[in-house]
Amino acid sequence: MEKETIALHAGYDKKEGYGSMSVPIAQTTAYAFRDSEHAANLFALKELGPIYTRLNNPTTDVLEQRFAQLEGGAAALCTSSGQSAIFYAIVNVALAGDNIIISDKLYGGAVTLLTHTIKRFGIEARIFKSDDASNLDELIDDKTKAIFFESLSNPQIAIADIEKIVDIAKNRGVLTICDNTVATAALFNPISKGVDVVVHSTSKYTSGAGTVIGGIIVERDNLAAFFKENPSRYPDFVNPDPSYHGLVYVNVPLPNFTLRARLSLARDIGAVQSPHNSWLLIQSLETLSLRLDKHSSNALEVAQFLENHSKVNKVSYPGLKSNAYYDKAQKYFKDGKSSGLISFEVDTYEEARRVIDSTKLFSVVVNIGDSKSLITHPASTTHSQMNEEELLAAGINPVTIRLSIGLENTLDLIKDLNQALN
Ligand SMILES: *Cc1c(COP(=O)(O)O)cnc(C)c1O
Repeated sequence: MEKETIALHAGYDKKEGYGSMSVPIAQTTAYAFRDSEHAANLFALKELGPIYTRLNNPTTDVLEQRFAQLEGGAAALCTSSGQSAIFYAIVNVALAGDNIIISDKLYGGAVTLLTHTIKRFGIEARIFKSDDASNLDELIDDKTKAIFFESLSNPQIAIADIEKIVDIAKNRGVLTICDNTVATAALFNPISKGVDVVVHSTSKYTSGAGTVIGGIIVERDNLAAFFKENPSRYPDFVNPDPSYHGLVYVNVPLPNFTLRARLSLARDIGAVQSPHNSWLLIQSLETLSLRLDKHSSNALEVAQFLENHSKVNKVSYPGLKSNAYYDKAQKYFKDGKSSGLISFEVDTYEEARRVIDSTKLFSVVVNIGDSKSLITHPASTTHSQMNEEELLAAGINPVTIRLSIGLENTLDLIKDLNQALN
């Protein structure tokens, strides 16, 4: 099936939902078993089915199946936020004494999580240049458990050299994890380029309505073979799990990565998605492809307007021919569509803040991916804790303004930006 069709139909059997056209919300904590044998079978994975909503839920299950198919993956696990999806994905393979290698261009929350918080768990983060992966190979050692990067990064609007990263990772037997939040499953599928695990903040474009905080982890087919080929790097997948009566994950005929994240991390940490949020995201998925087409075409029009405006010094949007990532956008993304993030520079810090305060239609919000257009000044908000050197390294300048272009008519968006700039 094609994506638009998957987003509407996959993973739901109407007969099991009283014929309800809308996927029912299983707003429940737990589930009645047929009898004690049924219960025992579910815990032993001899039979699959809902046990307790911290482990699985029928509404969330529909979303997980739909999303896994949209990403071309084997299975998915929903989490309570994008941050918890990243955390689970990392600690599913890394423990104290290990290291991970992360991109130099990441979402600010991912940077603090991966460099500060997981350090407290004894996991070291090493930083590689994701534009060209030139220093990636030299950072890998026996204790390297994962390489983490964003396909289209927020807020730098940079595109990673995905094929090169995957080549190096495969050569060295290291798992790749790609955050696909900004490109979305509609425009790009990292798994189709050989990535092992995909994570998302579904709070952004996937939700679109700006109503949900959510995350998801998707794994590619047959990771069990990869773990078996690299047993010393991934012992937790090939050795008995003492926390699950000696289960050996690679011997279970179910997608291993999300299975272990579910059975150990969701079970013990419990950052799982509420069924109601899963239901909201199921509504959002129905229009994902349509929305991303429109976000992308609107953003291209606005970027072209800005590029020709005398008060604007520099515009970053991968759909512009002048952009350093233009060729990668054409190579990786559906029809070169580059989602809705734009950044641009004006003359001074004061001018940046004046332009932001002069817009009427844009909302001053530190979010992205909403159907409503948003404007932010990263240097005084999301990146205000950084010093000048860190700002520069993160590609943020005091004169940079970031836009998240929504689904309004571009005539109105351009009119608003024009009056704010003049
Ligand atoms: C927002 C965001 C996250 C974090 O997601 P939350 O749902 O807010 O926890 C992670 N990665 C990227 C690229 C993001 O934009």
